[in-house]
Order: sequence, then C-alpha cells, then structure tokens
Amino acid sequence: MLAYNMAETAVCDLPGCGDEGVIISRLSPEGYLVATGKKAYSFREAYRRFHYCQNHHDELMSGVWSRVRTPEDKKEGHVAPTAI
Ligand SMILES: [Zn+2]
Repeated sequence: MLAYNMAETAVCDLPGCGDEGVIISRLSPEGYLVATGKKAYSFREAYRRFHYCQNHHDELMSGVWSRVRTPEDKKEGHVAPTAI
C-alpha cells in the first residue's frame, strides 16, 4: 500500500523526473547554487533546497566535478608551479 506523507515525501526536482527525491541538495539542476531571493541570515537559509533521486544526484555531482576539471576554464599564460 502506498502512503504519501506530505512532510516526508518529495519528488526529484529534475524536470521530467517523477522519482522520489531522497537527497537534498543546494545545487540546482543546472549545477549552480540558487539564491532564494529572500533576506537570509545564514548560508543555510540563503539558497534554495532541491530534492533529487539517487541517480540524478550522482549525475549532477559528476557533472559539477567534470566542469571543475575542464581544462578550457583555465587561462593559459601562467607559469605552472611545477615548471619552476
Ligand atoms: Zn530524478
């Protein structure tokens, strides 16, 4: 029997996904923090909370990391510390 508890059950926030959002994240589906727009007194309150299913959370996190590691983001021209 399915019992929906309004306080406990959330749906994955990724558009088109209807799975249960078991993981709470402050990363938006685009991989960025999204401010709530309200006056917030702490980091905890300053950003929206999203729910994701396990699969989409993993996908989102791997996407964030691959973007961080993208070499094109780094400006060339600086001497790398290892070049000394
Ligand atoms: Zn999902």
